[in-house]
Amino acid sequence: MDRYDVIVIGAGPAGSTTAYYAAKNKLNVLILEKKKEIGYPVQCGEFLPTVDEIREILPKVNNLGELFAIKEKLISKRTTSIKIFSSKRKCYELKFNGFSVERREFDKYLVEKAVKMGAELRTDVKVTGIDGHRVITNGGDFISKVIVGADGPFSKVAGWMGLRGPKKLSPCILCEIPGDFEPTVEMYFGSVAPGGYAWVIPKATGANIGLGVQKKSKVPLKSLLLKFLKSIDINAKPRFWSAGHVPVSGPIPQTVKGNVIVVGDAAGHVMATNGGGIPIAMICGRIAGNVIGRHINSESPLEDYETEWRQAVGRELKTALMTKRLADLSFKSDWTLDLAMRIMGTKRMDLSIKCKPIFGGWRTRKNGKGR
Ligand SMILES: Cc1cc2nc3c(=O)[nH]c(=O)nc-3n(C[C@H](O)[C@H](O)[C@H](O)COP(=O)(O)OP(=O)(O)OC[C@H]3O[C@@H](n4cnc5c(N)ncnc54)[C@H](O)[C@@H]3O)c2cc1C
Repeated sequence: MDRYDVIVIGAGPAGSTTAYYAAKNKLNVLILEKKKEIGYPVQCGEFLPTVDEIREILPKVNNLGELFAIKEKLISKRTTSIKIFSSKRKCYELKFNGFSVERREFDKYLVEKAVKMGAELRTDVKVTGIDGHRVITNGGDFISKVIVGADGPFSKVAGWMGLRGPKKLSPCILCEIPGDFEPTVEMYFGSVAPGGYAWVIPKATGANIGLGVQKKSKVPLKSLLLKFLKSIDINAKPRFWSAGHVPVSGPIPQTVKGNVIVVGDAAGHVMATNGGGIPIAMICGRIAGNVIGRHINSESPLEDYETEWRQAVGRELKTALMTKRLADLSFKSDWTLDLAMRIMGTKRMDLSIKCKPIFGGWRTRKNGKGR
């Protein structure tokens, strides 16, 4: 049976980044991915903030430039602002620099980086269980000192380990529309996407348009999205449709157990206010890879992972969750939502997008663990 220092389950941004840093620490790394093609189908809005914006959102994370040195050719379209529309289509515009990517290529780029660093990749291999140091798959079993669950929002690894996976998942649908779109991200709130929002994210030759809702509704998501497209005067035929789920209940309470850690969507590493998960998955993936390196090379505790990611992003994720919970109270009707958005105004919307407390008095306990 093949033996490894680390087996990473899932080759999304969290898994590939963990594998890259573990390999950089001279470990023997295997990535197992159930899909035949990395990054496909695309289940993402494909939007990323620039490094400067990420620095403002997550000021405690060091060396962001190294992590997000993304090649220009992966950037589809740069954007300079976010327009937020209330249920009555009142527009609030915030300055915010970001860009869209081709996620299909982006995920391949991240995994290729890990492979170049020395990790081994096996695709079309589904992990079906874990038993101590044994990783059981449909293609045979493997042995590993440390096992990483980077297996996305429906994490089986978290479940097998008795770790409570993400509690709430927001169902989403998206499509890609051809055309020329302004360099502005648009977010629409209200009955267009009950309890969530609809988005328009410009790309080089079109836009990624989709919506996420709070919970599965009687109205099919596709009908909601078609209605939304009509409401913003889009008649072009979509290039493709896709769907997915975003964890919106904040980080899970425990992310290390025995020789197993979970990272990315599997650990609820997502900004609950906007569903952005790629930067957090990569930041926590880097922490995971480095902690596993120290654990195997110099016997430091694996639990350092839990402490370090909470120190880096815990407070901001907790603040985003509190804002989301507060916003949920106003989602009762288009009227209450419109009123709440007027009260918030552009300044507080900006704070909420950046995971900052929207009311001065809020405090979250150190490391984002409470309250
Ligand atoms: C519709 C939608 C829009 C989004 N838009 C954005 C956005 O614009 N910007 C942003 O930052 N975030 C966005 N997100 C969130 C973002 O996509 C996730 O946070 C991010 O992909 C998390 O990365 P991950 O590596 O943790 O998980 P994933 O990207 O889900 O990767 C998990 C991988 O594990 C594999 N896997 C699962 N189970 C097994 C198994 N048993 N064996 C082997 N492999 C397995 C899966 O095939 C998958 O490749 C969006 C999410 C959705 C659903």
